[in-house]
Amino acid sequence: MLVDSHCHLDFDEFRDRVPEILEEMSAAGVGHALCISVTLDDFPRVRALAEAHPRLFATVGVHPDYPDAGQVTVDELVALAGHPRVVAIGETGLDYYRLSGDLDWQRERFRVHIRAARACRKPLVIHTRASADDTLRIMREEGAAEVGGVMHCFTETLDVARAAVEMGFLISFSGIVTFRNAGPIREVVKALPLERILVETDSPYLAPVPHRGKVNRPAYVRHVAEEVARLRGLSFAAVAAATTANFFRLFGLATHKRLGEV
Ligand SMILES: [Zn+2]
Ligand SMILES: [Zn+2]
Repeated sequence: MLVDSHCHLDFDEFRDRVPEILEEMSAAGVGHALCISVTLDDFPRVRALAEAHPRLFATVGVHPDYPDAGQVTVDELVALAGHPRVVAIGETGLDYYRLSGDLDWQRERFRVHIRAARACRKPLVIHTRASADDTLRIMREEGAAEVGGVMHCFTETLDVARAAVEMGFLISFSGIVTFRNAGPIREVVKALPLERILVETDSPYLAPVPHRGKVNRPAYVRHVAEEVARLRGLSFAAVAAATTANFFRLFGLATHKRLGEV
């Protein structure tokens, strides 16, 4: 059994296609997926997915690539995170690749998310791109280690991964590890302790080889796990079991929830 630790099933690509997506997950041995919020406007649709389908969970947060989403408050996030199917705060973080100029608002938004996560005792889902130093600095300054979480779609160096692991974070790998030019990321996959690794799709983006360029979907997380197994010289079953256990441990989900009796 596998878990896709990060996907965007509320996006237009999947409209009216969720039953089909769930069937594909079953066929591929993917039991669960975490649906990630990117704005508070989208959040009700993310929450509705987790309410309708016991195999889906939700997060609440405002992504750093949405400048027009406005500033959220700690109180707003904490209130929305009180829902029993919301297991984390995010995705949040910094992105100096997609956006440039004065990004003080992005750093402030990130700080608000960490404060909210600490206030409601839920882990963080962190996005970092071309901004690792500031991401780690703000995580330290705001005490992110108190709640931990996951660095999602990881593309940074082993040093950055280790710094996040020291703060109690897991490192999640996407289909990027299957791309031909992924040499440096593959070294990170090999070097980290297995109990610190998650796998994800970031659907609809970043479809792994052999589906590269198509619309990604949670079933394809299997290809990510297969690549992690190959790189580490482990069986697919061992990687599936470990990453699934890591997921449920991080998000504090009990066995009865795992079986869908919510
Ligand atoms: Zn992201
Ligand atoms: Zn995402």
